[in-house]
Amino acid sequence: MVEGGRIQAWELQGEGGSYRIEAGHYVLAAGQGNEALGAELTGVEVPLMQRRPLHQVCVKKVGLKPFYGVALGSSTKPPLVVTTHYDRAGVPVWYLGGDLAETGLDCSEEEQIGRARALLEKLLPWVDWSGAEWRTHRVHRAEAAHPGGHRPPGVYCAKRGNAVMVWPSKLALAPALSDEVLKALEKPKAGGGREFKGLEGWASPPLPEPLWDRLFS
Ligand SMILES: Cc1cc2nc3c(=O)[nH]c(=O)nc-3n(C[C@H](O)[C@H](O)[C@H](O)COP(=O)(O)OP(=O)(O)OC[C@H]3O[C@@H](n4cnc5c(N)ncnc54)[C@H](O)[C@@H]3O)c2cc1C
Repeated sequence: MVEGGRIQAWELQGEGGSYRIEAGHYVLAAGQGNEALGAELTGVEVPLMQRRPLHQVCVKKVGLKPFYGVALGSSTKPPLVVTTHYDRAGVPVWYLGGDLAETGLDCSEEEQIGRARALLEKLLPWVDWSGAEWRTHRVHRAEAAHPGGHRPPGVYCAKRGNAVMVWPSKLALAPALSDEVLKALEKPKAGGGREFKGLEGWASPPLPEPLWDRLFS
């Protein structure tokens, strides 16, 4: 509900019913979901969002060592970034990104797995991949639109009326983003109350199934 370029209230649907939130400011921090939220703000010139796609690879194997690493090459982008996760049975899964994921967009799943395997065999030749299971995962990075579709140089925080739309650009920049959000908020008017009692007992949203369990099920 927008009037005069300002949000007057926001209706939220929860499991226990619908809620009408009336706030001084509305900070939209829903990542890729900001696009749809912005589309609800009729009459407000909301910032544009861009998506930069990735083709990540997951490899699962019993006994794989926990490994967190960034390979360095001659380019500004690391050829490979590895993090370790565990599926519901506790089996380790390496999540592979970096330049491998950025440059594999036109590859089929099979081709991308072949590239990942060749890179791992080159960088970590002592790891035995027999019996390993491989999958790929396509995902987007959602950010404020930037010329040429490049990564924005830093955090993005834009205020339109009483709506503040944000993208941290990198998770590591979330603390810097919170500083920008606090600067963008107007000081509350004297006597303005904060009443959260209506939200008591509102069900917490369910946790999603981890990627590792979905991909290998
Ligand atoms: C594969 C990959 C690797 C990355 N690696 C790194 C890295 O190494 N280092 C780094 O710093 N950053 C990294 N990033 C970027 C980082 O993940 C993002 O910058 C960061 O997660 C953005 O945080 P966010 O809270 O703005 O959005 P998200 O993390 O996307 O969170 C938004 C949340 O809002 C929820 N939501 C959406 N719509 C609605 C709605 N209408 N109502 C309520 N909730 C909603 C979503 O379900 C989600 O939980 C990576 C991103 C990807 C995709």
